Amino acid sequence: MITARTMENAEHFTHSRTVCGICSGTCGMTITLENGKVLAIEGDRDHPVSAGHICPKGRAVPELLGSPDRLQYPIKKTSSGTWEKISWDEAYSHIVRGLNDIKNSYGSEALAVHVGHAGVGKEFLPYAERFCGLYGTPNFSTCGSHCFESKSMANTVTFGSMPIADFARSKCIVLWGKNPASSAPSLVSEIMSARGAGCRIIVIDPRRTGLAEKADLHLQPRPGTDCALALAFLHVIIAEELYSREFVDRWTVGFDALSRAAASYDPEKVEKITWVPAPKIREAARLYALASPACISVGVAIELNTNGFQAARGIAALQAITGNLDIAGGAVFTDEARLSDLQLTPGAGMRPAIGAVVYPLFYNASKNAQANLYAQAILEEQPYALKGLIVAGSNPVLTWPNAGRVRSALAKLEFLAVIDPFMTATAHLARLVLPCASFLGGHELWDSSHMSLEPRIGIAPKVCSDKELPTNWEIWKEIATRMGYEDFFPWETEEEAINYRLKALKLTFDDLRHMPEGYAYHTWTDKKYETYGFKTASGKVELYSDTLNRLGYDPVPAYHEPAESPVALTGTALEFPLVLTTGARRLEYIHSRFRNLKSLSVRAPGPYIEINPATAEHYGVIDGENVFIESLRGRIAVRAKYTSSILPGVISISHGWDMANANLLTDDEVLDPVTGFPAARSILARIVKE
Ligand code: SF4
Repeated sequence: MITARTMENAEHFTHSRTVCGICSGTCGMTITLENGKVLAIEGDRDHPVSAGHICPKGRAVPELLGSPDRLQYPIKKTSSGTWEKISWDEAYSHIVRGLNDIKNSYGSEALAVHVGHAGVGKEFLPYAERFCGLYGTPNFSTCGSHCFESKSMANTVTFGSMPIADFARSKCIVLWGKNPASSAPSLVSEIMSARGAGCRIIVIDPRRTGLAEKADLHLQPRPGTDCALALAFLHVIIAEELYSREFVDRWTVGFDALSRAAASYDPEKVEKITWVPAPKIREAARLYALASPACISVGVAIELNTNGFQAARGIAALQAITGNLDIAGGAVFTDEARLSDLQLTPGAGMRPAIGAVVYPLFYNASKNAQANLYAQAILEEQPYALKGLIVAGSNPVLTWPNAGRVRSALAKLEFLAVIDPFMTATAHLARLVLPCASFLGGHELWDSSHMSLEPRIGIAPKVCSDKELPTNWEIWKEIATRMGYEDFFPWETEEEAINYRLKALKLTFDDLRHMPEGYAYHTWTDKKYETYGFKTASGKVELYSDTLNRLGYDPVPAYHEPAESPVALTGTALEFPLVLTTGARRLEYIHSRFRNLKSLSVRAPGPYIEINPATAEHYGVIDGENVFIESLRGRIAVRAKYTSSILPGVISISHGWDMANANLLTDDEVLDPVTGFPAARSILARIVKE
C-alpha cells in the first residue's frame, strides 16, 4: 500500500502501464514501482477493454512477485530423492542430455511437451510448439485438451468459426454453464448495464450463482444433460414456429434433420432427464426466441462431459435458427490478429500424435496431441510409449483427470522437466525444475479478440527484472539453441521475436510499444455472411454436418446420457448415488494457481464440498464436518459446506487443491467421443463418514 508518507519521496516512484497476463481477461494495469520494485497495482481506467477493472488475482501480483515460495534457481533431483541447486548452464545441459537420450533410445515421438493455462495467449507457446517440430515429435499439447477447444470445434463445425456474445446490445443474455463473476469478471459490469437497459437474463447452472440470483430465470439442470436441454429448447422453438424461417431457409442446411432430432425432446420428457421443470423449459425457450437480439455465452462446464461436444452443437443450432448470428446483440464473429506463423510441417514418417487417430476432428482442429491420453501412453505404451515430458505452466497432477493414474504415469517417465515459478505437485515428480519470470518480467503480446467486438493487439512490456529470472520464451530459445536448432530460432531477444510475429500485420514492436491502449485491427460489421457466406464447406450453417457423419459421429446434435449417471449405470448408481461436479471456478484462483498467496487464501478459504442441506440430512452430514468423497477412482477427505444454492442430489468441489485433489475422483477412460474431453463436471460419487 502506498501511503502519504512514502509518497513524500515521490521521485523514487515510477509508473508503468501494462496488461495482466494471468488470464485471458486482458485487464489493463497501472503499476507503481519504487527503485524497480513493484509496490502496487491498480486497474488502468484508460484501458479500452477493462476500463479500470482488475480482480483480486491482479491485485495480488506484488505478493506473487515477492512470495517466499518462488523458486530462485534451477534444481535437480539427486539419486536419493533430495533437491540440489544447479547453475542454469547445468540445467540446460541436463535437458539437452535428457532430450537426446529419449530420441536415441525410443525415437522423437517418445517426447511430449505440454503447455498449460499459464501459457494461454503467451508468446512462448508457439515457440514451444515450433521446438517440437524441430525435435521431431507431434506430441505437443495445451490446456485445449480440456478447455475451450470443444466448444470452439462445435461452433467451427456449425458456423466455420467461433463467435463471441455481444452482451452490451443484447435483449436477452443466456449464461449457459458460465459464471463470468468467477471466470471473466470484467464482463459482469457489461452484463449488468445491459440488464439496466432492459435486457433479460437466463442463467443455466446447477448452482445458484450471484448472477443467477439477479436473473429473470434460473434453470438448474442435472450436470451433463445440457444437450437434452438444448434439444428441448429447439423442440419448443420449432414446434411453436418461433424460429427465423427466412434465415433457416436461406442460410442453413439440415433443418429437417434437426427438427426430427428435436421432435422427441418435448419439455416433459426432458424434465425427467434434466430435472428442470417442463414449464420453466418452455418459458426460457420462448423468452430466448422472442427477444431479439439475444446471445448465449457457453462456459467450460458444458464441455467437460461425455456429451459436451454435442451439447455445444445444440446450443450453436439454437443461435442459428433464431437468426441471432452476426447481428448486434447476438453471437458475433470477430477476428484474431493473424501473426506470422511459427508452426512447422510434421516430418515425413513421423508417427501420428497421441490422440490423432482416436479423435481425428480434435487433431485436425488443434493440430495438438490429446493430453488426456498421455497417462495411457506412459503406463500401457498405447498407441506407443511416451518416455519424456516437458511441462510448462501446468500442474497435471492437480488438473488432469484421474490424478492417481496421472501421478503413477509421471513417476514412471524417464525424463520429466517442469518450468514453473513454484514447486507444484507435478514439479515434485520431476527430475529437473526450472523457475521462470512472471508476466511482468518480459515482453508479451496481448490480443483482446475473446473479449471485445473491436479487438486490439498490444504490447504488455517488461516492467521489472523479476529476480533476474529468464522468461519462458528465453528458456525455450536457449533449449532450442543448445539442441542445434539456432537457425530456426534466429531471434536474439523477445523484441526481435515479436517483430517477426508482427510482420504479418505490418506492425513493429516499437509501433505497439507506444500504443498502451493497443492497436484496433478489426472493425466489426454485421451479417458478413451475406457477402462471404459462412466458413463451412457448404457456405451455410451446418445443422447437419457431413464432416461429423463421415467420421462416424452424430451429424445433428444428439443427447447421450453421461457415461456415469444415475440413469446410465443403475448398478453403480446404487453404490454412488450422488452426481459430483468438479472444477467450479473461484475468482481468487485459476485452476491450481495462487493457493499459496495469503491475501487470496484468506478471501477464499477451502477446500470444501458444497452440498444442499436436504442432501446432507439424507446422508447424515453436518455442516462443517469432515467427510470422505469417493468415486470409482479414488477418495478425498474434505469439509462439507451447506448451501441451498446447489441442486439436491448434486455435490460440487472446485479443483486445484493439493490437500483435496478433486481429480483423484475424475475419469480419464470414458471421454467425450469427439474431443477426448473428460467428464469432470458429471461423475458419480458417494459420501462416506468415518
Ligand atoms: S480478470 Fe484478473 S487475472 Fe484475469 S486479466 Fe483481469 S486482473 Fe488479470
